[in-house]
Amino acid sequence: MKHLLPLLFAPLLTASAADRPNLLFIFCDDLTNQALSCFGDARKLLDTPNIDRLATQGMKFSRCLVPNSICGPSRAAVLTGKYAHLNGFYCNESGRPFDGAQQTFPKLLQKAGYQTALIGKWHLESDPTGFDHWHILPGQGQYYNPPMIRDGQRVKHEGYTTDLITDFSIDWIRARDKSRPFLLMSQHKAPHREWAPALRHLGWDNDRVHPEPETLFDTYDGDRGLAWKDQDMTLETSYTERDAKLTPPPYLTPDQLKAWNAYYEPRNAKFRTTNPSGRDLLRWKYQRYMHDYLGTIKAVDESVGRLLDFLEAEGLADNTVVMFSSDQGFYLGEHGWFDKRWILEESLRTPLVVKAPGLTRPGSASDRLVSVIDFASTLLELAGQPRPADLQGRSLVPLLRGEAPADWRQSFYYHYYEYPLWHKVRPHYGVVTDRYKLVHYYKPDLDEWELYDRQANPIETRNFIHDPAYADTVAELKTELARLRTELKVPAIEDEPRHAYGKAPFDAPGQTPGAGKGVKP
Ligand code: CA
Repeated sequence: MKHLLPLLFAPLLTASAADRPNLLFIFCDDLTNQALSCFGDARKLLDTPNIDRLATQGMKFSRCLVPNSICGPSRAAVLTGKYAHLNGFYCNESGRPFDGAQQTFPKLLQKAGYQTALIGKWHLESDPTGFDHWHILPGQGQYYNPPMIRDGQRVKHEGYTTDLITDFSIDWIRARDKSRPFLLMSQHKAPHREWAPALRHLGWDNDRVHPEPETLFDTYDGDRGLAWKDQDMTLETSYTERDAKLTPPPYLTPDQLKAWNAYYEPRNAKFRTTNPSGRDLLRWKYQRYMHDYLGTIKAVDESVGRLLDFLEAEGLADNTVVMFSSDQGFYLGEHGWFDKRWILEESLRTPLVVKAPGLTRPGSASDRLVSVIDFASTLLELAGQPRPADLQGRSLVPLLRGEAPADWRQSFYYHYYEYPLWHKVRPHYGVVTDRYKLVHYYKPDLDEWELYDRQANPIETRNFIHDPAYADTVAELKTELARLRTELKVPAIEDEPRHAYGKAPFDAPGQTPGAGKGVKP
């Protein structure tokens, strides 16, 4: 294959192989497009000037999809460029760590002479491989004063985790070997549950009443099936006192706790006195959730700004590709939910902004179906490396160049497994196109198909599978789904390994910790 990149980068680089572009990958956990001003959500929930600045310098993708909308599996898909059934990491709770012996794109870049580092959230249970340096949060990590593991050694830090991850990222770039290009994966815990903002961002919204989503009080009608009615991820039932900050985090220093309480305590006292119920209680929870979830993104946005400023100050801005993304999207009250997991738009879609100097036209946008599974192929091509034939994603470089490849994917395969922990979302798989989603909810003791039409019903509150007007569409999508499952080598349902669904008793009733312990009505 002819590599055009050296030519495109030529004005910015000298001819030496040591001058291949640096790759800065900034990755969030549970960040969703609705929360970023550059994606233009109608609710205008938050201004993110620094992420917007990156978008004005590069290209944003409005439909970057995940193959499995949950943390660990999405991270495994990023590293390997493969679906769960090939990389072996199906769900967070399987008890089977990510197999770090397999091929990953950081390993390939390391072999190609890149210095590689991963700093921040990892969440794949095994130790990172393919990195010259790693400094990770164990498990989910905590928002303040995080214990971390640095190249195998346990360490403890004081401060706000998002800021610390950015400090360590800048320190590592500053101390790099300047004769070689680098790959740095700078990965935040934020804005993951339990959504604890930096102390300086408590009250950032000045007690604004955040606009509610149209579906906050969704009743799951519209011919929707058991999967919708049986889930356990609503603000109403699964949002705990800790989530609501009626209980402070246990890991604050006395000074931090004082500042924390100065913000939350008067508001919590008012809540207890008012003692809202019914819809008023759900509205209160939504407002508290928005203050906290969005508040954690304020520090992420500042971190992006600090990294961009640092690259400019170091003279690295013109030969460093910056990719900003998240492991999946998230619900901000849509369908009454928080969390992710579903093939539905808010959790299927994840933010993606890429600045590739000399390649992306500043301020450009793409609505093509792209995926986190494409990241490995993309970063390898940007580094001038060949793409191994077993990768299932495809390089985004033609799109970044502004081309319109005639053979770009028109459909995308999705597959979620974990059940019943957490949140009791039924295992499902399906095919996604620009307009439609055909979904099969298939376990346990379930065999329900649903069809969503984003054109006719953008909020995805209706199942059209039984509407005769859609019969041809359903037939076409079933054929396409079967084709994708064959092409991607997806095993038959009966051959799925038991551990794909996690360690919890599969047929037991939902046992979501937190369920029934939410803020009492
Ligand atoms: Ca996540």
